[in-house]
Amino acid sequence: MTKEQIITNGLTSTEVKKLQQKYGKNELIPNQKQSFLKKVIHIICEPMFLLLLLAAVIYFILGEPRDGAVMLIFVVGVISIDVIQEWKTDKTLNALKDLSEPNITVIRDGKEILIASIDLVPGDLMIITEGIKIPADGEILKASDLCIDESSLTGEAEGVWKTTIENSEFSTGYWRNDYCYAGTLVIQGSAYVLVDKIGLSTEYGKIGNDVASAPEKPTQLQKQTGSLVKLWSGIAAVLFILVGIITYFNISDHEFKDRIIESILSGITLAMAMIPEEFPVILTVFLSMGAWRLAKKKSLVRRLPSVETLGAVSVLCVDKTGTITMNKMTVCDTWSFNKEDNKLCLCEIMGLACETDAYDPMEKAMLNYCENLGILKNHLFGGELITEYAFTNELKMMGHVWKHDGEIIIAAKGSPERILTICNLSEKELKLTEDKIIDMSKRGLRVIAVGEMHVQNESEIPTKLTDCTLTLSGLIGLADPPRKSVKEDIYHCTRAGVRVVMITGDNGITASSIAKQVGMPNSENIITGDELNNMSDEELRKRVKEVSIFSRVVPEHKMRIVRAFKDNGEIVAMTGDGVNDAPALKYADIGIAMGKHGSEVSREAADLILMDDNFSVIVDTIKDGRRIYDNIRKAMGYVFTIHIPIAFASLLAPMLKISSVSLFLLPIHVVLLELIIDPTCSIVLERQPAEYDIMERAPRNSNEKILKAGTLVKSILQGIVVFVASFGMYFIILNKGIKNPEIARSMGLVIIMLANLFLVQVNSSDSVFVLQSMKYLIKDKIMWVVNIGTILGILIILYTPLNVFLKLAPLNIGQFLLSFGIAGVSVLWYEVVKFIKKIYSRIQ
Ligand code: ADP
Ligand code: MG
Repeated sequence: MTKEQIITNGLTSTEVKKLQQKYGKNELIPNQKQSFLKKVIHIICEPMFLLLLLAAVIYFILGEPRDGAVMLIFVVGVISIDVIQEWKTDKTLNALKDLSEPNITVIRDGKEILIASIDLVPGDLMIITEGIKIPADGEILKASDLCIDESSLTGEAEGVWKTTIENSEFSTGYWRNDYCYAGTLVIQGSAYVLVDKIGLSTEYGKIGNDVASAPEKPTQLQKQTGSLVKLWSGIAAVLFILVGIITYFNISDHEFKDRIIESILSGITLAMAMIPEEFPVILTVFLSMGAWRLAKKKSLVRRLPSVETLGAVSVLCVDKTGTITMNKMTVCDTWSFNKEDNKLCLCEIMGLACETDAYDPMEKAMLNYCENLGILKNHLFGGELITEYAFTNELKMMGHVWKHDGEIIIAAKGSPERILTICNLSEKELKLTEDKIIDMSKRGLRVIAVGEMHVQNESEIPTKLTDCTLTLSGLIGLADPPRKSVKEDIYHCTRAGVRVVMITGDNGITASSIAKQVGMPNSENIITGDELNNMSDEELRKRVKEVSIFSRVVPEHKMRIVRAFKDNGEIVAMTGDGVNDAPALKYADIGIAMGKHGSEVSREAADLILMDDNFSVIVDTIKDGRRIYDNIRKAMGYVFTIHIPIAFASLLAPMLKISSVSLFLLPIHVVLLELIIDPTCSIVLERQPAEYDIMERAPRNSNEKILKAGTLVKSILQGIVVFVASFGMYFIILNKGIKNPEIARSMGLVIIMLANLFLVQVNSSDSVFVLQSMKYLIKDKIMWVVNIGTILGILIILYTPLNVFLKLAPLNIGQFLLSFGIAGVSVLWYEVVKFIKKIYSRIQ
């Protein structure tokens, strides 16, 4: 096949299939999947399991195989719950990963299509453009202005210019300049590349392995959870020994062997009640489920801990164009400099200064406007394009040199500040123009100046736009209206203590006018790019305390802006879409990339990718981040609360010299309760809705402890009351009532299980009363399943033959209702506390 044929057709689908079978996936880092068996082994090695197994073994030794078998059945139950949970988390995380996989455009079957980079095969023809990270090694067939950053491979910071093999001079080094390498970055231009090597056979694949697998540092939350687990395990260990010793001395009338076994058994019961296995589970489950929920709302989380950071964001830096505004431009005003000249002439020059195939919304608007005036494209671009002056962020202007009917015209357009410096204007004319610019800008319009220059022959064309001397044609005012919901969103951010900072390449007056339109506080204060250049970091740090608008900035400024805020102790989220935005996105606490029009490099540097480049989604995401953090906090508090009655009961029983057959909680009952606690955390508490005032309080301090003293006191108090209720009931029935340990135990157990349901409802909000929060919980099907499921579970363990195995007994209606009532009272008292708190805060 000739080169032209390859370029137009690419591979066929049948060829692709064969090549895929032969070469496999294009993975730079092999995907290591943990086998199912390994996972199960991992779970079995957890202390909870070893304790369960130990308890089962002891029962068998004691000659009570029935109890041993029941324990083993529970082992299977707990394993299944853990496996299901891990499987679900894995599935969620993999689905998220697939969503943020990089794509690449290839030509297959003669058509341009977008495929996942992982599906590339050798022989594929890929099209690379600015901002793309090259996914495979390949030979360059056709290139225009192609410049590549190969620092990830060669360490060379300077961009490398690439050409095709015919144009390449003999190159001696290892790295060829007619070839592209996986893992490198297109910083300019575009090319057609014939894929040669994929996956681990690429240069990057050969060396990149260990680079990619650098471990991530644990976050605040992970560290705190770690120390919580350690503390808790320490306490458990001490109590384990204590309970064992006490039991040993309590039953001095037993044989030595029995004494040892009994004391180990009561120690195990306590240890099982105290193992803090829930804490790390809460973290992974809540964060991954949170990320999943965010993905459904079109914001993709690339690093899990970002979910937690989101809730602490205090400064939100956004690009104006496209994020705050719609990026749908229309020309709404024109002003021709020369009165006799009419609008048509101005617009013709404007049109000539646009790209012939415009993709920039502003240029599209300009060409549209021309069309409406009857200046059609085939007339406009009918001449010969001799050369062009490219637009750069620093220059902020551009121009085209056209030859029309033998006449050479240089048409230029750009930001007025820059265009006016190369125009030949008298002082008076300059003043007149500047007044007009201010006038337009104040209306929130983006003002573009248009200028022209005529030369006699091609040798007189200046090499740089800045060397031209233009005649001013006039000014164009373009409107880019703010997105509909932005005003409301900014209002919510301000109430939530999140400062919105606007960053734009537009001029200050325009920016300030838009800022005012969307209700940004302090919209008169502006820092311009030039001021920024002349400012020291320290000065900038002081200024950003008040100023929220940055105008006429280039992407490189963003890094300094983020740094200034971070140095002030803020948690910064920042949006960006260009290649040059990547460093700032990485540096920000939350880098936000645009999924629709952002470059791949920016997406890779970001923590969050917005599939829909919309400001509202960012605000929603912050709100969700707060909700998820709240729920983690509530769940950790809940774990404290619910373990107190269990742990205290196993601790107190031997001290009260209760005989081993009539103990409140035997190991099976502890496991039974654990089987309820896990799903309560990972299903029920995970899906708690946001509190009504979640966006009315200031962002949390990022150094704040997950369990604050207040939460801890509340959890412990609640736990103690439930303990008193359940253990008290059991104890009274055992000693004064019907003296039946099975009945006493059943009542106590029912109290804990029902109190568990009430706890979730009461702690659903710190301030709103249960009846109010029930309103939205009532609509939630899962809540119903859990509530009815628990009650059904209680009925089954009490009233079916299972009760014999579980050492429980059926309760009569009176006993059941009494337990129900006591469970309610033991938790609902907290409503009174909420009420008192409310009155107290009103008085203040
Ligand atoms: P923003 O950051 O708001 O998207 P840009 O960086 O795209 O702004 O543009 C900054 C300024 O550069 C604009 O206000 C305008 O003056 C000028 N400019 C942008 N695009 C063009 C273009 N295609 N032709 C001429 N001037 C342009
Ligand atoms: Mg722009």
